[in-house]
Amino acid sequence: MIAAACALLALVVPDIYPFYAAAPDASSAARMLAGSLIHPVVLLALAGAGACELASRRRPVTAPVEVDEFLPALPPGTIRARKAALAIEALKLRMHKLDASALVALTVQAAIRAEASDIHLHPRHGGMQLSLRVDGDMIDVGLLPPDLQGPITNRLKVLTRLVLYVTDRPQDGHFPIATPDGSAEIRASFLPTEHGEKIVLRVGRTGMKLPSIEEVGLTPALLERVKAMLDKPQGLIFFTGPIGSGKTTSIYAALGHIRATRRGGAQIATIEDPIELVVPAFAQTKVNRQAGLDFAQGFRALLRQDPNVIAVGEIRDSETANIAMQSGLTGHLILTTVHADSAAGVFNRLLEMGIEPFVLASVSLACVSQRLVKQLCAHCRVPAKPTPEQAVRLAAAKLTGSSFFAPRGCPRCDSTGWNGRTAVYEILEISPAVREALQKNLDTSQLMKLAIAEGTVPLFEAAVEHARLGRTTLAEAMRVAG
Ligand SMILES: [Zn+2]
Repeated sequence: MIAAACALLALVVPDIYPFYAAAPDASSAARMLAGSLIHPVVLLALAGAGACELASRRRPVTAPVEVDEFLPALPPGTIRARKAALAIEALKLRMHKLDASALVALTVQAAIRAEASDIHLHPRHGGMQLSLRVDGDMIDVGLLPPDLQGPITNRLKVLTRLVLYVTDRPQDGHFPIATPDGSAEIRASFLPTEHGEKIVLRVGRTGMKLPSIEEVGLTPALLERVKAMLDKPQGLIFFTGPIGSGKTTSIYAALGHIRATRRGGAQIATIEDPIELVVPAFAQTKVNRQAGLDFAQGFRALLRQDPNVIAVGEIRDSETANIAMQSGLTGHLILTTVHADSAAGVFNRLLEMGIEPFVLASVSLACVSQRLVKQLCAHCRVPAKPTPEQAVRLAAAKLTGSSFFAPRGCPRCDSTGWNGRTAVYEILEISPAVREALQKNLDTSQLMKLAIAEGTVPLFEAAVEHARLGRTTLAEAMRVAG
């Protein structure tokens, strides 16, 4: 009976969702619906939902609650590290006292304030481990009691509009959330594991300010070259790097620079999955595969809207790659990401997608490969010498330098010695010699060798340069770019 009711609920979830989300629990949602004389089928489904809840939960799922009181407003100018520490502290204090719905709301709000990129809910023996990823590091918040696991999972599935009873296969979706710190798009993914579904929530950054090209971590020399590149009327600029390496931030910063500097103005359009930052000046389209709108389709539709500059979230199939090449040849500047392990590797990927070497050579402007390194607090860093091991690695890479920096800790960085992250870039510009090599179809390592001879600074060297400038430590530079 319960299974049948659940199945029925699954069919009508999109229809009852607004009622369900607005009501504090399933039984009052049913009363709301009964009062408004909704179709009996929907009502029956609601009854099923109520039965499921009673069967599977001891704590009721309530509507989003006001969580201001748990995360009080901070004085203006509070630095990031302190904000993150306070938000995580507040979450630790309250996590055992809230029901599933309030806990979900507070966790997301704390994650936004801490500028966490992901929230992990990992079911294991004895409960559900809650952790946040902040600046690339996993921070354990605590173990949630086992009786909250079902309600939290269901609450997140309701928000994501997923089917509650499917627990044996991966599901994913997204939902928007508004908090006093701004709104965010949360991408939720559910994966069956031995102890139940593991949930990871990726926190989009809707509502944050557009990053500036001066602030993303380019060295002064690279900054000038990038600005010159962004001034070009047509061609392709590729970004590559692991997930969470700041590619999207770099692309937004580049678009912001173009918008601010291009003479006569620029029509800027994006196709993204998801939209991580809403910028009113850009025409942004979100990929929606369920509605048949993928990167290729969205891209083609965008081209009919007379844009000058287009950011395409990712090129991962030959159809999208071909449209990108065509539009790069016909008066559009395209910024996009391609999955590859190095700047030179991007070309290889595109050739694998069936792009002709001569097309690639004539349309490409540059490949940008990047990583994020933890940034030292500029107020308290102290001089440091390389360890003997580090000195050996520097010498092996034919790099010099004996004065670097180490973290110390001060009130401004909450005694951590660190302050957020910054990007390290390897930028392979397409010089005439590199273009010729591309046409001849040189392999990745030969291409990289040539690019270095032409002035490309390899990632490792760029990271060491960051350490020399005091932006990060030598150990961090070697960890990330070694
Ligand atoms: Zn400091």
